Amino acid sequence: MDGADGPSDRLVSASEGGAASSGPAASAAAGDRGASPLLELNNVEVTYDEMILVLRGLSMTVQRGKIVALLGSNGAGKSTTLKAISGLLPSQNGEISQGSIQFDGRELRRCDAADIVRGGLSQVMEGRRVFGHLSVEENLIAGAYTRRDGYGDDIEMVYEYFPRLGERRAGDAGYLSSGEQQMLAIGRALMSRPRMLMLDEPSLGLGPLLVAEIFEIVERLNRELETTILLVEQNATRALGIADYGYVMENGRIVLAGHADDLRRNPDVQQFYLGLSESGERRSYHDVKHYKRRKRWL
Ligand code: ATP
Repeated sequence: MDGADGPSDRLVSASEGGAASSGPAASAAAGDRGASPLLELNNVEVTYDEMILVLRGLSMTVQRGKIVALLGSNGAGKSTTLKAISGLLPSQNGEISQGSIQFDGRELRRCDAADIVRGGLSQVMEGRRVFGHLSVEENLIAGAYTRRDGYGDDIEMVYEYFPRLGERRAGDAGYLSSGEQQMLAIGRALMSRPRMLMLDEPSLGLGPLLVAEIFEIVERLNRELETTILLVEQNATRALGIADYGYVMENGRIVLAGHADDLRRNPDVQQFYLGLSESGERRSYHDVKHYKRRKRWL
């Protein structure tokens, strides 16, 4: 994969005043000189139940046409970031208490979820929430609910990317395997013809072969349909394997940002997310977890 937006020889950490700060510094963190941002988060704060502060001044940029990975350990705030962007916070008693989220120059902060989908931004939520009692095809049709132009050949297009869905088009979605349900969740999001797709942990609970298949399709969607992708993943190896650029989150902030290749080579990222020691051997999960408890990004 190419770099996100031109050559970069270093990562930017929050302590350098880069990725976690707002405005121009955040843009510099994304290395985006001359590139065209599709999504920009600037100093975003999110609060649940009016008192639990989860995002603490998060800034990040997703360049048009790229795949950007958002990494971080459990509870870092990755899903909350996606929900803030897609307008799903109100349903969880959450709100954006500060900052701005611009998609293609338009402020999303006060838009509702359907409006955001209509504007070209779709989220595939964690946990493959398909409508189990509806058929595969009915699920896909439901995904086009915001379209005013009908959906033309888009169902066939989804079946081309996911032939297994085509084979099971009349069957109840509830009887699909986990991998097929993930495919259906992505296919349903595609039915809104998004310019940008946000995927929340698509590899969760799937075996390596299925994960490889799904990531390959995500890469094709990006290349062939020019869909910009924001990919939230615990599986950093896979995510950085297809991403152009990556951000690492901890405790509601971006703590590290850089081109995917640079992040893959970063010793901290290797320790925490790729499970490799400095000598290149694989560290045990227990060792990494132990190390994690001692060391913080900030
Ligand atoms: P994971 O990989 O475990 O899903 P994450 O990085 O996606 O983690 P979030 O799900 O965004 O993290 O959660 C971030 C923090 O916000 C956690 O401490 C979580 O308990 C809290 N949180 C998430 N949703 C809510 C909610 N609806 N109400 C209150 N707190 C919440």
